[in-house]
Amino acid sequence: MNILRVALDVPLPRLFDYLAPNSDESDIGRRVDVPFGKGSKTGIIVGLSAESEQPENRLKAVGAILRDMPALPPDWLALCEFCARYYQTPLGEVTSFALPPMLRRGKLPRMPKAPAVAVSPAPSSRDTVPGVEARDMTFAATALPALLPAQQAAVAALTAAREFQTFLLHGVTGSGKTEVYLRAIAEVLAGGGQALMLVPEIALTPQLESRVAARFPGAQVVCANSGMADAARARGFLDAQAGRADIVLGTRLAVFMPLPRLRLIVVDEEHDASFKQQEGLRYSARDVAIWRAQQRNIPIVLGSATPSLETFHHAGGGRYRLLELPERAVAEDMPSVRVVDTRRQKLQEGLSAELLGALELRLERGEQSLVFLNRRGYAPVLACPPCGWISRCRRCAANLVLHLADRRLRCHHCGFEAAIPRACPDCGNVDLLPFGRGTQRLEAMLGERFPQARVLRIDRDSASTPKKWQALLASIHDGEADILVGTQMLAKGHDFPRLTLVGAVGADAALFAADFRAPERLFAQLMQVGGRSGRAALPGEVLIQTEHPQHPLYRALQAHDYASFALSQLAERRIAGFPPFSFQAMLRAEAREMAQALDFLATARAAAEPLAAEVTLYDPVPMRMQRLMALERGQLLVESLSRPALQAFLGKWMERLYTQKMPAGLRWHLDVDPLEF
Ligand code: ADP
Ligand code: ZN
Ligand code: ZN
Repeated sequence: MNILRVALDVPLPRLFDYLAPNSDESDIGRRVDVPFGKGSKTGIIVGLSAESEQPENRLKAVGAILRDMPALPPDWLALCEFCARYYQTPLGEVTSFALPPMLRRGKLPRMPKAPAVAVSPAPSSRDTVPGVEARDMTFAATALPALLPAQQAAVAALTAAREFQTFLLHGVTGSGKTEVYLRAIAEVLAGGGQALMLVPEIALTPQLESRVAARFPGAQVVCANSGMADAARARGFLDAQAGRADIVLGTRLAVFMPLPRLRLIVVDEEHDASFKQQEGLRYSARDVAIWRAQQRNIPIVLGSATPSLETFHHAGGGRYRLLELPERAVAEDMPSVRVVDTRRQKLQEGLSAELLGALELRLERGEQSLVFLNRRGYAPVLACPPCGWISRCRRCAANLVLHLADRRLRCHHCGFEAAIPRACPDCGNVDLLPFGRGTQRLEAMLGERFPQARVLRIDRDSASTPKKWQALLASIHDGEADILVGTQMLAKGHDFPRLTLVGAVGADAALFAADFRAPERLFAQLMQVGGRSGRAALPGEVLIQTEHPQHPLYRALQAHDYASFALSQLAERRIAGFPPFSFQAMLRAEAREMAQALDFLATARAAAEPLAAEVTLYDPVPMRMQRLMALERGQLLVESLSRPALQAFLGKWMERLYTQKMPAGLRWHLDVDPLEF
């Protein structure tokens, strides 16, 4: 008897069996329509079996097996199976996520006809894939710069690697990392391979796309990100799977693109938090990419100016091979970094005399400045001083942020918004005051202080769509702004040749945050944002306003010494037993009442106790952001010094939780290797 084992997108960690008399092994990896409940679903056939655990008379017959696209290859299914296992997520949820939405629904995009261009003969080393014509993989005609010795060594190491090996390419912004990736990719293409390049969400810009496309005019470059139109994304997936695509360039979800000739994976800005998905399948694309490189036995390169401490630790221990680019590619100095002690001076709307003077100087010289403040809106809260009322979100444990640009109060967590009240809702006082400072307020203040300057604000509000974001970038490039006020949006992957000053405001908040990763993130942000300055012939300067001028983090920044910062952080983490010296998973629950969420977690903890070998179970506690969208949230941390022990434990534990009956209204999820606490 022929029984198909089907992965369906339902929150149950099991496969579903269906009868299919007319199918065979070649159907594994195909999409299939099956009856489910009162309706039907589209799933993926992941196995064929002669028997089922279900009684035969209860098995239903499959609907249509969709044979209009090639079956997904075994290594793709294995990748999904790994994610299901590692992240404790039902396989059907993983396969469903890993497919572009259109293919997931059982549809196919219309494919363009193959272009009728003449192709040059393939180099002899090129593998042939049936149905794929060889294309000319020569470089763009423009002369390429001669590589610096360190770049050359890095390219040589990458291209010499014939087997699985993880490289860390460590170099500051402008040190020529991208150039190294492109040279290594060129070698891969010349040998007939495919390359996968992952970049953070915000760094995937048309500029990067065109830089890659311009370098390889003969190659097919496919982009993949969640913002793409359905059909385009599905076409890219099919092109990659068929071997037509030579380079896949994308955000985290691109790690799931099937690539039959994959020879190299690049993860740029590997420390970036956007590689970890914070909902649904909570995967780290960087970690999954490393697994995939191992599976395919190919090299992978992680690049960053400020590697994650996990990665840096592995490079130090020899598990990853460290490739360093110690200087900027275009001969120029690193920006000078200074701290401005704000304890003993009166600030003007949060800005010190030094920073104002430095801004003035840039205006006189016709250069650009950037004031970095990682808080959007006008002010973080609106308050009534006489009675103590403050603008709070009714659904979250958070304040409503004052947005003066469109006169709204807004919750940055749940999206709730309301008009600004004319008077205090509690006492009727009409003199409500904004407290604290966001980018809009800085923008307004700078406009008043420097009336001759063109001030441009760049944050998620002003760059709310990719189109607006591109328009803002274009006007910065065209020199249409003198002073930029921006959040970390501006920190990544953009080249502003006339930018010579970066001022950082309000950075201290992260120094003493409860999250043990906050200093790591702050260092990376300041390093990145500082790296925006002085990239052309003009030297750059970074001024950091702080009340803790002696803090080791700022000292390391001044010395451009990532390694000393990282080593001191690692020493602290070793003592505290934090990652990378331990492995963690977080069980989170949300419910109407906190007691309900904590009760569930306590029950889960009790169920875990007999299973927890070499695993520490902490107590259920409310999350730091304890209410979101009118739901109370709690968390339970589990930790182990051994990843295999943690994995084995999670497998057994989740089996219990998935089969346990849940109180109505309670939702839970597990986050393996959580980044946020
Ligand atoms: P990163 O990715 O580390 O920020 P890039 O590869 O983008 O650095 O290089 C920064 C700038 O220097 C780019 O404009 C690039 O074209 C240029 N560049 C890179 N390598 C060289 C080189 N060997 N010689 C001259 N210019 C280079
Ligand atoms: Zn809210
Ligand atoms: Zn009041």
